[in-house]
Amino acid sequence: MEEELRGILSERGLSVSSLPEKGRCLLTTNHFSPGEIIISQEPYVSVPNHSRCEVCFGSDKLKKCAACHFVWYCGSKCQKADWTLHRVECQALSKLEKERQKYLTPSIRLMVKLYLRRKLQDQKVIPNTVTDNYNLVEALVSHMSEIDEKQLVLYAQMANLVSVILQWPDLKLKEVTENFSKLACNAHSICDSELRPLGTGLYPVISVINHSCLPNAVLMFEGKTAVVRAVQPIPKGSEVLISYIETAGSTMTRQKALNEQYFFNCSCPRCMNLGQCEDIQESAVLEGYRCDANTCTGFLLRDPDNKAFICQQCGRLRKLEDIKQIASEVKSFSEKAATALKSGNYEEAGSLYKTVEKLQLKLCHPLSLNLMSTRESLLKIFMELNNWKDALVYCRMTIPVYEKAYPGCHPMLGLQYYTCGKLEWLLEETGNCIRSLTKAFDILRVTHGTNTPFMKELLAKLEEAHAEASFHTQTH
Ligand SMILES: [Zn+2]
Ligand SMILES: [Zn+2]
Ligand SMILES: [Zn+2]
Ligand SMILES: [Zn+2]
Repeated sequence: MEEELRGILSERGLSVSSLPEKGRCLLTTNHFSPGEIIISQEPYVSVPNHSRCEVCFGSDKLKKCAACHFVWYCGSKCQKADWTLHRVECQALSKLEKERQKYLTPSIRLMVKLYLRRKLQDQKVIPNTVTDNYNLVEALVSHMSEIDEKQLVLYAQMANLVSVILQWPDLKLKEVTENFSKLACNAHSICDSELRPLGTGLYPVISVINHSCLPNAVLMFEGKTAVVRAVQPIPKGSEVLISYIETAGSTMTRQKALNEQYFFNCSCPRCMNLGQCEDIQESAVLEGYRCDANTCTGFLLRDPDNKAFICQQCGRLRKLEDIKQIASEVKSFSEKAATALKSGNYEEAGSLYKTVEKLQLKLCHPLSLNLMSTRESLLKIFMELNNWKDALVYCRMTIPVYEKAYPGCHPMLGLQYYTCGKLEWLLEETGNCIRSLTKAFDILRVTHGTNTPFMKELLAKLEEAHAEASFHTQTH
């Protein structure tokens, strides 16, 4: 099997190798240009988030499976496509007491499906292929030795539930526990083109790809198909790297996230800068405070006594107490705002987030991620309220931070330009709309390709805007 996989990868200009400090990795044996597909894979198993079709993850015209009353389908086409696996899953789920069904979280379901699929492949009911077989799952890392006791107990409890569902006398609980640990660091969240999460899937070949905070490739999904595209020119003989985490963040924040979920210390070029001038400045801008002086855009560092922060541009001091005071106000208003937003009270949420923004303007560096995330919330609220004008104001304010936090070809930056362009279109700012949509297209055609319905819609909007602009130049 391994040999065959090597053959298939080599046809695509790829090879799997093993690095002493990193384990397995995916290398290129050909050159890849930005936008080019490096590899794509269907999930070995996948589950949707609640109330979505089991197969296509759609949310329209859903009906529950009449037998187990648990799994949803959008129609008979998807139901039929899932029947080979669901037939056995359905029997297991139907036997489960109603009381226990509420414990069927996506992780539990993914594990049940993993074992059922393995069994059906053992029995040759579902064919094994080079990229679709349980051996590839077996080869994934689990990091069992690094997991803390509490987590291990939780995984063991989850394994018990899987055993209750499957009722296989020969099921090895220890192996199921280890597999939960495997899923935690290998399963991928499946998102739509706008990066909204739809479900979870396991893609054992894609899982070979390692992480970088400055990646040369990006993982996106087309339906449930995982597609990895180059975002930079990747020369022959390089390692293919994607990002596992939200890359907008200081080196400390990123390393904490990677350590907690994936158990490794990142040694990418961004992380290797830790503690150096450039890195300290970046952290102080993205997550730090602003200078007290009105027009100064300097970044602040702690003084050696830890009692104040000093502006690195004008030398002004800011007392720790002053910062703590505002920070606690920000916290309390943010909590109220989040509650209002959650309950759908947009007017109230909007005015609370504006208070948070006002406080953060006194507290945070103008390019800080916290301030940006507040403005991001305001953008969403104004969109909900159909207030395009204010939404556009906030969308535009986030762009400089996006440019800084997501350097290069990043889907987040492309999507933000897209939102900007859509708002400008609604507000009949045709010239600006063309500029924003063009920027969006230049980024997203690399990260998303050009063939998806999402990209076709973007292109259609851009053409419409061009037509509108030329109509105006003709008539005026
Ligand atoms: Zn469907
Ligand atoms: Zn069923
Ligand atoms: Zn890194
Ligand atoms: Zn200053």
